[in-house]
Amino acid sequence: MLRLGLVAGTSGNVSAREGELVHITPSGLPYPEMTVDDLVTLALDGTVVNGYREPSSERRVHLAVYTARPDARALVHSHSVHATAWSFLGEPLDTGTEELEDAAGGPVLTAPFEPTGSDEIAAAALEALGERQAVLLGRHGVLAVGASPARAVDVCAAVERQAQVAWLLRGA
Ligand SMILES: [Zn+2]
Repeated sequence: MLRLGLVAGTSGNVSAREGELVHITPSGLPYPEMTVDDLVTLALDGTVVNGYREPSSERRVHLAVYTARPDARALVHSHSVHATAWSFLGEPLDTGTEELEDAAGGPVLTAPFEPTGSDEIAAAALEALGERQAVLLGRHGVLAVGASPARAVDVCAAVERQAQVAWLLRGA
């Protein structure tokens, strides 16, 4: 994620589902310092099952998606620049390309802005995600679903590229 420019510093987060458990990256730890021991394991109700760090502040979004979408095996949340800028428009990201269709399953909708970490952002993200593989969080960033964390990173990268294309088409 860092190498692809999808996040900076401690922004963004990653999780993966294993049965009824979710492993998620910790809050506020720079990626280069992160090891597998820093991951936090949660039950689907948010209870910490394992780990000594504070779980990502966006855990409610992750848990809501896993609860509603049994097909979701991994989630990646990024703050890539073009996609985040697009999320301020409140419009679907709809370039109509095969890349976006393959990666996200169609146009990527934008959830209305809600505060980070709130139950409201979780509900808004879930509604705008629908059955697709990606959603834009209003004035915030991207959330992508994948069969694995690596595949979800691929979806984030595709959404970022398509957002860049969309901005170029607007002459911005
Ligand atoms: Zn974020």
